[in-house]
Amino acid sequence: MDLVEFQGKQLFARNGVPVPPPGAVCRSVDEAVAAAERLLPDAGAVVVKAQVKVGGRGKAGGVRLARSVDEAREAAGAILGLDIKGHVVHVVLVEPASDIAEEYYLSVMHDRVGKGDLVICSRQGGVDIEEVNRTDPGAVVKRQVLPSERADGLPRGVADEIVAAADLPAEVRDAAAELLVALFGAYLAEDATLVEINPLIRTTDDRVLALDAKVSLDANAAFRHGDHAEWDVEGLEVRDPLEDRARAEGLQYVKLDGEVGVLGNGAGLVMATLDVVAQNGGRAANFLDVGGGASAESMATALSLVLSDPAVRSVFINIFGGITRGEEVARGVLGALERLGDFPQRLVVRLDGTNAEEGRRILAEAAHPSVVPAPTMQEAAALAVRLAEEAA
Ligand code: GDP
Ligand code: MN
Repeated sequence: MDLVEFQGKQLFARNGVPVPPPGAVCRSVDEAVAAAERLLPDAGAVVVKAQVKVGGRGKAGGVRLARSVDEAREAAGAILGLDIKGHVVHVVLVEPASDIAEEYYLSVMHDRVGKGDLVICSRQGGVDIEEVNRTDPGAVVKRQVLPSERADGLPRGVADEIVAAADLPAEVRDAAAELLVALFGAYLAEDATLVEINPLIRTTDDRVLALDAKVSLDANAAFRHGDHAEWDVEGLEVRDPLEDRARAEGLQYVKLDGEVGVLGNGAGLVMATLDVVAQNGGRAANFLDVGGGASAESMATALSLVLSDPAVRSVFINIFGGITRGEEVARGVLGALERLGDFPQRLVVRLDGTNAEEGRRILAEAAHPSVVPAPTMQEAAALAVRLAEEAA
């Protein structure tokens, strides 16, 4: 689960990572105006910020400074409803503005290749860090942290090394190292996969603050964090309705841009299926993992979801029988078709693994007009792509 900025800042604050003074989360211009009226006397200026889960809000006009209530009204009016890279803004954060002397970059993320965590720090922040890494790689410090090294959190000595290597100014090194230790603690305690601060600012009075917050939480650890559910709020931004439905059904579904609906058992197999569709010149319309079992019921739920996507022109069902045997899968598919009634798309079914032959025989005997059996993954992909083209 990805958090929006104001949620990320809440997570930072409760873990001792310094953030600007709390602002107000507003869903309308009136709310933003009320927040500005309350905050401006002390703050002098407020910043109005789009709360959407996408970067580059500043460049897109989603971050504005306001020095008066009128300016705040105008800013909120301009930002609410704004479409930032496909994310429509429904909520703005109105926060006391900070006085920025310099902008840095700091993040901690999972490092699968290094089998640990990765801390990235740069003196050049507030800009696209990948771009800095391309044009001036020396300015981006990357430090791997192994699990054995961080049994009690990130050692202060390591944090000191990192901020020194990034050449942060002497005046703020201590504060930045302390902030990094707290940030790493937040990352561990909250089971995050990413915590990113861009920019980490040095204020004109030499404090360091997280001016922005990007946080991804590990969904597989959600059971350890009952309190994270409160951040999973509806209506922050417009989500794909099919993804919402899939979530409600407990299916692993991700909407993609193509025309070939994809359905398989096991995330690895589904990923491989997306690849083979692409290799055959097609584009997958979605990722959908039906999981271990492939009962008629779960198959029907999954299929109806895929078929209700108007972009889907053909469907590739790719099942490898393991514990669930081939004949059960075949009956699952046929049972699902019975429940679903009529639909225009054809389904290419590739069945392999335990009792696959028996499963294929059942499908062949049923001779359902919508089902096109295919012996291999390669042939199935080619067929599904061709059927999608013909249906266009
Ligand atoms: P992003 O564009 O989505 O990454 O949004 P950020 O929260 O990083 O804000 C973008 C830029 O707006 C920052 O790099 C700052 O330069 C500026 N900005 C954001 N908040 C403030 C603030 O409180 N005061 C000032 N002066 N500038 C701010
Ligand atoms: Mn930012």
